[in-house]
Amino acid sequence: MNTHISSENLTAYADSAVSAHERLEIERHISACSQCKIEVDQLLRVRELLRPHKNYPVPPFFASRLIAKLNAENKRSTLSDFVWIAKRLMPGFAIFLAVVWLWASSKTSDVSSVAEEYFASSDSTSAMALLAANERDLTTEDVLHLAVLEPSDSE
Ligand SMILES: [Zn+2]
Repeated sequence: MNTHISSENLTAYADSAVSAHERLEIERHISACSQCKIEVDQLLRVRELLRPHKNYPVPPFFASRLIAKLNAENKRSTLSDFVWIAKRLMPGFAIFLAVVWLWASSKTSDVSSVAEEYFASSDSTSAMALLAANERDLTTEDVLHLAVLEPSDSE
């Protein structure tokens, strides 16, 4: 009574796929063990619910076609997740870079023309182009340095 009946044996019991001796042992155990009794009851309930569909014919190669379909679905969703995240992050990232760059430029060069140029650009793509065009003035290290080390010094 110390060890519970394994799930495999409980399933076999629910399927009436055990010997008379095993059946007796399992019934003796579950009469004293609520945990195993609950599991058996759930298995029997599932069998009962599935009974009307017991003889539903499975089309040929169903399993292999299902697996192939699931694999294809999996690949597609991983790719579309990536595209979705990239699309979501790109404008924010571009704006972040533009703001950092604008702010950095304000320390060294004519900020009004830079701001004018930026706000004239209607979308993040041209903000990126603007950044790329002015790459020589500001390195990636500068952007990271300014963003990480002096985030509050914008007065
Ligand atoms: Zn038990």
